Amino acid sequence: MNIALIAHDKKKDDMIRFTTAYQSILKEHTLYATGTTGQKIMDATGLSVHRFQSGPFGGDQEIGALIANNKMDMVFFFRDPLTAQPHEPDVTALIRLCDVYAVPLATNMGTGEVLVRGLEREDLSWRNIVRGQAPVSESV
Ligand code: PGA
Repeated sequence: MNIALIAHDKKKDDMIRFTTAYQSILKEHTLYATGTTGQKIMDATGLSVHRFQSGPFGGDQEIGALIANNKMDMVFFFRDPLTAQPHEPDVTALIRLCDVYAVPLATNMGTGEVLVRGLEREDLSWRNIVRGQAPVSESV
């Protein structure tokens, strides 16, 4: 599975703890991250992560482009709900695209725990069928 990992600054420690705890599950998958999050995960865990630009410099949009091509299977986006983000429109767009493509998205560690367990149980095998397909357009 292709998995995106993103954490706002005040949630980066959560992301490090999360990826450390679930390293054995995550290492079986292809990991992508925004720049700073990815670097911190690699330094802390040794996991191999493909890093995009830092979030405020376009990293969220780069990951969004993979979602828009239905190539991302799961997104862990530990967002900070208490701090204004300069790239808030990018954050909103990424979350919206997950809904457009029905990509499982965890915006906090609680949901992250559930999704990573689902990943372990191979609950996401349906993604192998829909990956790369266009979204079903709604008829009006
Ligand atoms: P960062 O970006 O991993 O480069 O800090 C995350 C974000 O703010 O979207």
